[in-house]
Amino acid sequence: MEKALLQENSIQETCSVCGNKLTRYGSKQLKDGMLCRNCAKLCSRWLEKADYAERTVEQIKEHLDYRRKNQELVGEFKGNKVIEGKYNLFIDDDNKTFLITKRSDFVKDNADVFNIAEIGKIDIVERKYVRRDGSDVYVQLYVNHPQFTTLKFQVNEFGCLNKDSEEYQQALKLAYEYVNALKDRK
Ligand SMILES: [Zn+2]
Repeated sequence: MEKALLQENSIQETCSVCGNKLTRYGSKQLKDGMLCRNCAKLCSRWLEKADYAERTVEQIKEHLDYRRKNQELVGEFKGNKVIEGKYNLFIDDDNKTFLITKRSDFVKDNADVFNIAEIGKIDIVERKYVRRDGSDVYVQLYVNHPQFTTLKFQVNEFGCLNKDSEEYQQALKLAYEYVNALKDRK
């Protein structure tokens, strides 16, 4: 008898959270299961691919509970747009809260509401392209929050800027505006 050369694994076909059938695209790999596209849409946009892979099914269920509570918080959020860009920064000065969202309709977006006091370090990060001559500018906030450790967003509207360009300087300037708007309120 020849030894089997291939290992067989059964492929999970249903979502570990809601039980619906997984679609080919949009499903997320969790540490100990799979998440369907519809459940993934309810998760925060701050979760990156690696964050899903590190989370267990139980942790994602907690995250979805947190997201339901956030929907109430964001409904009461009375912030003003402080910085407009690829991502808009809204700050509620009375309640000392903020949110960052691509779209202006933050309620529909269920954008995560954070306390300004939850912000730790803030960095401006340059991400260089490997095979092309160019960079993107990011703002990265470290947060003291049960669901997140960092919030990272791209500042420049269009990717891959030459560092000598006017657009790159503008992106840097805008990055400092985000940082200062938050730091001034801490
Ligand atoms: Zn699901």
